[in-house]
Amino acid sequence: MKLQDWHTHNKMCHHAIGSLEDYIIKAIELNIDTIGTSDHFPYDYLIGIEGLPVHEYAMLLEEIEIYLSNVESLREKYKNGINIKLGFEIDYIEGQVDRLNVHLNDIKPRLDYILGSVHVLYTKEGIPWGMDDSRFSEQYNSLGTDKVYTQYYQLMQKMIKSIDFDLDIVSHFDIPKKFNKVPTSINLIMNEVDKTLELIKKRDLTIEINTAGFRKEIKEQYPSFEILKKMYELDIPVLLGSDAHAPNELAFEFKKIINQLRNIGYAQLASFDKRKRYFIEVNNFINGNIDQ
Ligand SMILES: [Zn+2]
Ligand SMILES: [Zn+2]
Repeated sequence: MKLQDWHTHNKMCHHAIGSLEDYIIKAIELNIDTIGTSDHFPYDYLIGIEGLPVHEYAMLLEEIEIYLSNVESLREKYKNGINIKLGFEIDYIEGQVDRLNVHLNDIKPRLDYILGSVHVLYTKEGIPWGMDDSRFSEQYNSLGTDKVYTQYYQLMQKMIKSIDFDLDIVSHFDIPKKFNKVPTSINLIMNEVDKTLELIKKRDLTIEINTAGFRKEIKEQYPSFEILKKMYELDIPVLLGSDAHAPNELAFEFKKIINQLRNIGYAQLASFDKRKRYFIEVNNFINGNIDQ
């Protein structure tokens, strides 16, 4: 079975293990057809983030060129073994999109895709914290779990409405559930989920089905089966990402997801080349043939 994995990291972000080439070699070994490199975009252009350990979250601005040229030369080196797509996972930080674009605009023509993510939320005092960083998990108590979820979805909605924030794919849609903290008001949260999905549909974005959740306390993919069904009803395109932070996490639990998607009714998966979306039949993954 051949697969495409669109969400991978490497040691350049300082919290993953393995070089870019280690991931490519492992992907070939796993018979993965396409690997998307999507390491974390730097945070050091941001202001007001002193409380965040950003040196552990991403490469530095000055390392962007090293990353891009490394992926481009690996793409050439392994062109007979695997398709390599070049991307970034970029955080949406409200009010700082113009600052981001100063660094992003020049390199955009080299990218195949952009994953848009929200990881940074704000305390009651307005101080940024890393929502999926366990060192900040006390915030689920001080803010309250419902507030963490609603603030997260409201920032996602701002991200999607922010036309200046360029993205193709929305990452790990319901990641506030990572530590298995359950909101008290499911209706309140689902209302925000619905609003977010409507905006994604309106902007014609793709949603990543991210299997990292299987490796966390929640023990399921992002987004949940319930949300996946809503996405199918809205005809929102999907693709798969392992969010690998180690080579052996590539394509983690993808077979399970492909079966889930088939049960829901999804017949196609999205794919990207130089920011253009196209589609691949899900059945072709099962048959091990995804030639276009
Ligand atoms: Zn990471
Ligand atoms: Zn992420």
